[in-house]
Amino acid sequence: MRADDVVLAYGGGWLDRAGPLRADPDRITALLTDPRTAVLPLWRDRCLVTTGESLVRLAADWAAAALAAADETVFLGLDGDTAIFAVDLSGQPETEAVRLAGAATAVDVRALVGRLGPAEASVQAYARGLLHWHRQQRYCGSCGARTTPRDGGHVRSCAGADCGRLLFPRIEPAVIVLVEAPGAPDRCLLARHRGAPEGSYSTLAGFVEVGESLEDAVRREMAEEAGVTVTDLAYQGSQAWPFPAGLMVGFRATAATAEVRVDGEELVEARWFTRDELRAREAAGRPLGRPDSIDRHLLGSWLAAGA
Ligand SMILES: [Zn+2]
Repeated sequence: MRADDVVLAYGGGWLDRAGPLRADPDRITALLTDPRTAVLPLWRDRCLVTTGESLVRLAADWAAAALAAADETVFLGLDGDTAIFAVDLSGQPETEAVRLAGAATAVDVRALVGRLGPAEASVQAYARGLLHWHRQQRYCGSCGARTTPRDGGHVRSCAGADCGRLLFPRIEPAVIVLVEAPGAPDRCLLARHRGAPEGSYSTLAGFVEVGESLEDAVRREMAEEAGVTVTDLAYQGSQAWPFPAGLMVGFRATAATAEVRVDGEELVEARWFTRDELRAREAAGRPLGRPDSIDRHLLGSWLAAGA
């Protein structure tokens, strides 16, 4: 499978993000009263759901109370002819946000894995990440003045005199790596992270630092966390992970030697597993990573690549 054939949870480009529309405030305002428009209400990183755990999606002409109470309203894009907005009700008590949305409760989108379609999960995650960014960027980091949203909620601009700095949503990239052992038999390296339950293993991952390429980050993280020198890096795909601002970039790499030395800080244990061992773990009810994670995808594709 080619990396560009891989569509992981929370990605997929389901909406036309309609970037050129963002610069047309009159059009954005008009869309907010268009009866075809849909509004997704969120409360403090959570989506609002009905008693049947369907996502609440308000028609714009029904959403006046929610729009009036919102801290932020952002234009997400177009789903065919339907404009999709998200509103942030985080300034309200939870009970009031639930009432305004006509919802039953507020839940994390990740708790709805397997129940939401891929488009719904992706659009909710996008809304969550963008609204989270707004809540963190109310003041300018240069002059301390308030900032105000523009461009449909995809930019904030500083209101300070002589400043006017523009703030753009930021992504925090991280690499996640399936490391293979050198030579036979085929084995991959999994680690137990500090705080993870005994016997719970996952692939190695870490944030990309300033001044690093993705490949630099792979080599550094594997050396720091597991004492492993890696070569033969191969890109496997990426995953939007806006919880709150991640982008996971998946690689495979090969260790120069099978010697492993964990750092004892982030990782408390790391060891090599054969495919048979992983299959036996799975058969015994130990899932290989979260079902919505690129960790799971990396392991699943490695298992599928060998006997
Ligand atoms: Zn400023």
